Amino acid sequence: PLILGIESSCDETGVGLVRGCELLSDHVASSVDEHARFGGVVPEVASRAHLEAMTPTLRRALDDAGVKLADVDAIAVTAGPGLAGALLVGISAAKAYALALGKPLYGVNHLVGHVAVDQLEHGPLPKPVVALLVSGGHTSLLLVRDVATDVMMLGDTVDDAAGEAYDKVARLLDLPYPGGPPIDRAARDGDPTAIRFPRGKWGDGTYDFSFSGLKTAVARWVEDSERDGRALSVPDIAAAFQESVVDVLTRKAVDACGEHGVGTLVISGGVAANSRLRGLAEQRCAEAGVELRVPRPRLCTDNGAMIAALGAEVVAAGLPPATLDLASDTSLPVSQVLAG
Ligand code: ATP
Ligand code: MG
Ligand code: FE
Repeated sequence: PLILGIESSCDETGVGLVRGCELLSDHVASSVDEHARFGGVVPEVASRAHLEAMTPTLRRALDDAGVKLADVDAIAVTAGPGLAGALLVGISAAKAYALALGKPLYGVNHLVGHVAVDQLEHGPLPKPVVALLVSGGHTSLLLVRDVATDVMMLGDTVDDAAGEAYDKVARLLDLPYPGGPPIDRAARDGDPTAIRFPRGKWGDGTYDFSFSGLKTAVARWVEDSERDGRALSVPDIAAAFQESVVDVLTRKAVDACGEHGVGTLVISGGVAANSRLRGLAEQRCAEAGVELRVPRPRLCTDNGAMIAALGAEVVAAGLPPATLDLASDTSLPVSQVLAG
């Protein structure tokens, strides 16, 4: 079946088309530039941008795949978690198309979509996998026995998300928003052992994460340096900060694979684009005999293809479609793959 996926949970309007594990098209319109001067996503700005981008993005996705709207067999849309106003735009569009075409509608979990998308790059997901989801809004470790029906949260951040920490630290260092890419670049010229920043929740026996103490430690380091008139090495701070983040992320992810006897780790979300995270994960997975799957950066950030990929799995599992009462759930738990 041909599945249309619509994503609008945050600042990306995404429309994708898939058939099983085959990616036919994927178009994303981002409002990230409009949020840059605020240093974070402004919900009202995001909603308006979704409204303007939805129809043109859908057109492009259909053209690119060489299919017509009437060819679509089912429609999947992000039902949550995300920003209420932003989700509403995607859900309303999806309902309109489902109603007009007389095709089934599925409200799916955005976070699980980040895992399902790997199928478009590396083929069917083994069962089970452990998934490390690292983005601007989320930092979670999941045990995924079946992407359509059996997803369990192993751990979560207790404060900031990993990407949020990158964005906040970039601000402290006068680097642009979003902060991940410039910190990643700066860190390449730095010494990760130059400063020893704290590793939040290291060895605490949980799969939870914490990054706010790290952010505070970087802020204090910057203040102290300025007060004492010491020159700041942005590359060293970036490298040391980044090492602290990816050390904990990869350690806990590989430990979770070991504890649950899982042979595959999937890393997804915007922070999965990070070069040091990829490098250290490769090294630690190889040491532990775990297969590592990281989709290409374009599929790791928010997009419609990931929602279509999850939709394809939900359809294949024979799960019931939503009704036109489908509502957004801003805090949809990850264990709930389908909303409504
Ligand atoms: P959600 O959390 O709902 O998935 P989001 O838009 O916040 O939505 P993404 O678009 O997946 O998340 O990712 C954006 C985040 O990824 C930003 O915080 C950004 O700084 C971070 N990021 C992007 N590239 C890199 C990189 N190379 N290294 C580290 N972080 C990165
Ligand atoms: Mg984004
Ligand atoms: Fe996301």
